[in-house]
Amino acid sequence: MYKRLTSHHNLVLIDHWRNLLESEGIPCELRNRLLGAAAGELPVHDCEPQLWVAEHNLSRAKRLLARIEAAPTQPDWQCACGEQLEGSFSECWACGASAPLGEGRHKEERDGDVHDDPEFVA
Ligand SMILES: [Zn+2]
Repeated sequence: MYKRLTSHHNLVLIDHWRNLLESEGIPCELRNRLLGAAAGELPVHDCEPQLWVAEHNLSRAKRLLARIEAAPTQPDWQCACGEQLEGSFSECWACGASAPLGEGRHKEERDGDVHDDPEFVA
């Protein structure tokens, strides 16, 4: 028995959520992905792509989704080669350079490294 978890007009986002949920072991069913063209004739809400999950996974999926949506998105960044990139890219697709460790980016990892790095031991 499948239950509707959520719906969103942005199919890319729905697809993204599905990937994340499935990587957590929750199989998802994507419905309505082809009905967008009929949006003028049906109530809009019925036409949006929907994510469905098994009933026994529903509460866990909702918690995961809430966490996904609450997570801060990475800011856009500009590569040294001049390419403007979205925050979700960790490498420049034009020249292959890594994203700079800007403010907030990988901050926790850097802070953790300081204590383990022998160079910092006086
Ligand atoms: Zn670049």
